[in-house]
Amino acid sequence: MNPYITGLKCTKCHQIYKINEVKTTCPHCQDEGILDVLYDYKTLKEFFNKPYLDTLQDKTMFRYKLLLPIDDTHISEMLSIGGTPLYSSNHLHHLLKIKQLYIKDDGQNPSGSLKDRASAIAVLRAIEEGHHTVSCSSTGNAASSLAAQAARIGLKSYIFVPKRAPVGKLSQLLIYGAHVISVDGDYNETYHLSKLAIEHFGWYNRNAAINPYLVEGKKTVALEIAEQLHFNPTDWVIVSVGDGCTIAGVYKGFYDLKQLGLISKIPKLLGVQSDGCNPLVKAFESNQSLKPVEENSLADSISVGVPRNPIKALYAIKHSEGFMIDVSDEKILEAMTLMGKHEGIFSEPAAAAALAGLIKAIDLKIIKHDQSVTIINTGNGLKDPKNAQLATKPPLLMKPDLNELIKHIEQKGDQ
Ligand SMILES: *Cc1c(COP(=O)(O)O)cnc(C)c1O
Ligand SMILES: [Zn+2]
Repeated sequence: MNPYITGLKCTKCHQIYKINEVKTTCPHCQDEGILDVLYDYKTLKEFFNKPYLDTLQDKTMFRYKLLLPIDDTHISEMLSIGGTPLYSSNHLHHLLKIKQLYIKDDGQNPSGSLKDRASAIAVLRAIEEGHHTVSCSSTGNAASSLAAQAARIGLKSYIFVPKRAPVGKLSQLLIYGAHVISVDGDYNETYHLSKLAIEHFGWYNRNAAINPYLVEGKKTVALEIAEQLHFNPTDWVIVSVGDGCTIAGVYKGFYDLKQLGLISKIPKLLGVQSDGCNPLVKAFESNQSLKPVEENSLADSISVGVPRNPIKALYAIKHSEGFMIDVSDEKILEAMTLMGKHEGIFSEPAAAAALAGLIKAIDLKIIKHDQSVTIINTGNGLKDPKNAQLATKPPLLMKPDLNELIKHIEQKGDQ
């Protein structure tokens, strides 16, 4: 384990535990007592600075290993995770009339989503703790990324998915050799079965919220965004929200950098959900605790009726002076086509929700035209070809005849 970690703090009752005292959540608060990893920023601050980062050869997420809950024994055996590009938008910022827009393309991770950052930590912790099998329940991406990382490092994986999981993600699981249990139920029921099975068999638990270490992996996306922008991050960072671990991770990354004196301000975080499944938006708006909702969105990765990490997610929104909004599935599909057509980036629906959220936030004047924005593309569109078809018109079908083609193009222009 990283020697700069000083303990684990309950986000509910604020009790502090030693690293080996607890495995998942706070014993007093149970499932609601999600733990936060504490670091010795004072010591780290003495050398964790720009000159130190400039000496590092590693461009993957493990360049930040001193801010991660792992030791470095097996890092060299891992796939290349993180170090994804941060593109300055070529066209979208004109279209949306905002000053500056960046797109962090985490669809380029090995299994095609940001979840690889968390699964990497899961398999390394599993090895450190002497496990041979890892397990999780997931709407898709946590599962496919865990299966990939487990295969790479030589662990067995048992994966629970709701039967609605898209075909691309399911295919990934099977190709990576995971033991897949497709549950005839919603995500909540799937999660519950995985919890019971993990307890029964003693597998390593990669369920994102209750495992305090996974958010630490996810935070590397924020560390990278900040470093790629020379420690002047944008006014806003936008990310879609399901369980709430990703947005909590993004906050934690910026928080670390602020503690280390590398950035002066944490960007405002805009969390986006689908209006077909928006429990955290409702909790944010009403300022009340979370109420479970149905899962009626085609953005499967954020269709989470009972989010597992509401405290950390809402803390991130509040303490960054950010906002939560929801968007319709129709706008999500439209955002997918905008991202593809104007920037050449193929997003899955949950990832495109971030762009749909940006468009709505500009309309509502939550985000101003003179502000700068980063959106995180959390997952690759190839994972979900069915919804891509839903977002677009079918291609033109014609005989292999040049005259017919000429007629068509002259009539329609090059649209
Ligand atoms: C998991 C996921 C999210 C949301 O992350 P949470 O931690 O569940 O809030 C967003 N987009 C994609 C593509 C994801 O896979
Ligand atoms: Zn507690």
